[in-house]
Amino acid sequence: MRMRKQVGLFVAACLYYSGLVGVSRWLMQRSGKKLIILNYHRASRGDLRCHMLYLRRHYRMLHLEEALEELFSSSINTGCDRRTPLVLTFDDGYHDNYTHAFALACELHVPITIFLIPGYVETGAYFWWGEPRRLLRRAQVNEIVIEGKTYHLNLSDEQGDLGRLIDKRLRYASSVVEREQFLGWIREKLLILPRDVALEEEGDRPLTWAEIREMRESEWVSFGAHTMHHPILAYLADPIELECEVRECRDVLSYVLGLDIRVFAYPVGRTEHIGSNVVETVRTAGYHWAVTTLHGVNTPASNPYLLGRVLGDTSRHWLVMAAETSGIWHLLSPLWQLIIGKGETVERTPILSQKGVEHDT
Ligand SMILES: [Zn+2]
Repeated sequence: MRMRKQVGLFVAACLYYSGLVGVSRWLMQRSGKKLIILNYHRASRGDLRCHMLYLRRHYRMLHLEEALEELFSSSINTGCDRRTPLVLTFDDGYHDNYTHAFALACELHVPITIFLIPGYVETGAYFWWGEPRRLLRRAQVNEIVIEGKTYHLNLSDEQGDLGRLIDKRLRYASSVVEREQFLGWIREKLLILPRDVALEEEGDRPLTWAEIREMRESEWVSFGAHTMHHPILAYLADPIELECEVRECRDVLSYVLGLDIRVFAYPVGRTEHIGSNVVETVRTAGYHWAVTTLHGVNTPASNPYLLGRVLGDTSRHWLVMAAETSGIWHLLSPLWQLIIGKGETVERTPILSQKGVEHDT
């Protein structure tokens, strides 16, 4: 993985310093109306400052709703700033969006948009997709039997298998109640003790309402909806629950923030998780636009309820981000697959933790 990253950085540097990134950016600028929406999650654990410094120099940074209004309006940008519009979005509402992204947004005058999950803000619980890793780290037993199979936690292979099993049960739950019941059951089986939050886990917690309100007061942060409890919508068995997750999120955020929330982000927004019933539910709930995690630069012809985004992980070097946002990285992606494997693929790459659990949320 490290080697692959270094090769990627070398290629990105070659593309940048040879001028190809600049040419590609220039071509995109002149190829009609475009909108790049970057998709971040965590704001720490990397160098977001370098990303922002580069992006604000070469792109016209906007809030998401402002950018979407402009993209889908019939008017043509006749202003003197002809740079391609670009938006920074952060999914899930991690605490470090406040400590890092918000702080940098104010300092560098870069607008950002955060997609919130009110159910998690309300309880302050850790997000479910981080639980397999957290549970295994805190387990107080040496073995556990699930579905007739024994997992020995001192054997790394079996620990990895157990992590994947827990992730699968949480990911494919047919309701939020089923997911939370399983979480309660597995915590009990692993004898997880409630204790203080470890310092390194502080950034993993959700934002609080106080932090969100403070950000809302600034001119640099806007908000979108990301469901009430972050289920993968396609797996919900009950259409009423699907509607509640989508509609209630908008209602709660609009009420608490005193804003009309018009943009939605699908949880784990890949193709297989966004059926036509999900899109229709989002539309009828009153949202004007919805973003996915599928790779894509948007044009006025894009479906406003299936907008593409570009991976904006803070762990990516700013040179890789420069190549990515210019479009040349994606253009050459078949070549990456030949040279460095599938780590840099066309669609959003699921991030694998050390336990081999997906974190594409
Ligand atoms: Zn998410």
